[in-house]
Amino acid sequence: MKQTVHRAYNFNAGPAALPLAVLEKAQQELLDFRGSGMSVMELSHRSATYEDVHNQAIALLRELLSIPDDYDVLLLQGGASLQFTMVPMNFLRPGKKAAYLLTGAWSEKAFQEAKLFGEPYQAVSSKESNYRYIPKLEDVKWAPTDAYVHLTSNNTIYGTQWKEFPHTGQVPLIADMSSDILSRRIDVSQFALIYAGAQKNLGPSGVTVVILRKDLLEQANPNIPTMLQYATHAKNNSLYNTPPTFAIYLLGEVLGWVKDQGGIDEIARRNEEKAKLIYDVIDGSGGFYYGHAEPASRSLMNITFRLQDEALEKEFLAEAKKEGFVGLNGHRSVGGCRASTYNAVPYEACEALSQFMKHFQAKHAN
Ligand SMILES: *Cc1c(COP(=O)(O)O)cnc(C)c1O
Repeated sequence: MKQTVHRAYNFNAGPAALPLAVLEKAQQELLDFRGSGMSVMELSHRSATYEDVHNQAIALLRELLSIPDDYDVLLLQGGASLQFTMVPMNFLRPGKKAAYLLTGAWSEKAFQEAKLFGEPYQAVSSKESNYRYIPKLEDVKWAPTDAYVHLTSNNTIYGTQWKEFPHTGQVPLIADMSSDILSRRIDVSQFALIYAGAQKNLGPSGVTVVILRKDLLEQANPNIPTMLQYATHAKNNSLYNTPPTFAIYLLGEVLGWVKDQGGIDEIARRNEEKAKLIYDVIDGSGGFYYGHAEPASRSLMNITFRLQDEALEKEFLAEAKKEGFVGLNGHRSVGGCRASTYNAVPYEACEALSQFMKHFQAKHAN
């Protein structure tokens, strides 16, 4: 451990904290990657050295998430936002319906985009409460003729998270898991397609993971631009064109780090512990702090909370900043504060924040 490196308490919502061990390794390997005499960034994406990096990242994702063999794992560009487009472009047709479960700003964006391609409809929504809760499973409705059902597993801005997912049978279930992929165990086989921008829980921005059941490709529209067809990337192991090689290298290193920590179950256990530190302060504050999300819908990744008035919130954020906490400002649509406690955010940072919150309250409560 290098004691001299200054590392902030980073609670950014995304791009977000990366494991220190991964950054140190990347630093060490930067100039001469595995004896090549060059950095990963300078390797040909057709070289055996790079292919190893690429395939290792995919293999680790398969292993950590127990992805069944009848699924492809793709490494794409364009962020989760391009997936809002690619999903309906590939799987929705004019006159066809798709069910969108609206639980926040990102699911709204996905829904809007789908309108360009077919007839998405709002199957359920918690918007009337400013997205404070995740709808009950029994309130989620879809039709057997729908092209798919789309949901957002974790609502980064509002701080809510689906705890269990609808079983949609023959209708493909598609999930945006950008902000909680790899934070807990999920049953991949319940989903037809999962997508996630890497910059919250998986690595740096620039690479987007897509996990899709192979049979879905048969239903995809072939008359769309080559680069926007999932089939193009599936057929070419995500090497149809130049992939974001450095981002994929870091993705692989982050996945290796997750494995070293004990895998997904250990990471999930720590995430629960970390979130509890902060939720306990909120719940024990007698109303000094209050959460945006309803307790049953609380996210373990993004903890959204407010103080009694905006002046106090401003003071809280200013003092937190002075103490070395970064990224605690809430999104403008919720206001207040948000602490993002992704996989790579250390327990110590959450502990420090919970202490800071208690001290701040002790100083300002009357
Ligand atoms: C951050 C985020 C996005 C947007 O990701 P980009 O990679 O910036 O396009 C979409 N969905 C969710 C749930 C997110 O958290």
